[in-house]
Amino acid sequence: MTAAPLVGVLALQGDVREHRAMLERAGAETVAVRRPEEVDRVDGIVIPGGESTTISKLARTFGVLDPLREALHAGLPGFGTCAGMIMLAEHIEAGIEGQETFGGLDVVVRRNAFGRQVDSFEADLDVTGFDRAFHAMFIRAPWVEKVGQAVEVVARVSVVHRSEGHDAVGRIVAVRQGSLLATSFHPEITGDPRIHAMFVDMVRESTYVKRK
Ligand code: GLN
Repeated sequence: MTAAPLVGVLALQGDVREHRAMLERAGAETVAVRRPEEVDRVDGIVIPGGESTTISKLARTFGVLDPLREALHAGLPGFGTCAGMIMLAEHIEAGIEGQETFGGLDVVVRRNAFGRQVDSFEADLDVTGFDRAFHAMFIRAPWVEKVGQAVEVVARVSVVHRSEGHDAVGRIVAVRQGSLLATSFHPEITGDPRIHAMFVDMVRESTYVKRK
């Protein structure tokens, strides 16, 4: 792909503007996605954080749950952050009864995994392919508890700042499987575009053919 890829940001909840800004810094064009016909236009999709149970219900209401699930399973590159990671998981721990996801990632993701007393924290991560640590912000974040054979672990927590004594070090917080990428943290708010650039590269390398 030579022209700038068009990356959609699912705009039902969360940091839509921040994600678009980071993707644009990484060389993509962006569009907010709320409708099925918008799903058909994009070369990749970002699913922001927020509350996964709400995103799931809103996706159903807006009629994008099934179209996006189908597109992701057909190879549409997807990047989920925090609640977006939960939305890409095939299996959730501590979900609510009947909680639906888009799926695609062969992982078990635990919601609110870092403990209730630690609503948010910051940590430095070892990320595959990065020559220096990535500073990450976690907000009521999930972690990846189990990965299937096809899943690559992209980042683990190395150093925790202002820890309340919880056991975060070593936890899996970013994974990739084929054209899907997911992070437990919020890379859109710390000013470092490297994770978004990784995703834009995945979109550029993808052979997915959009429908419109
Ligand atoms: N705890 C939220 C959930 O379960 C995720 C939090 C976030 O996206 N910042 O969906």
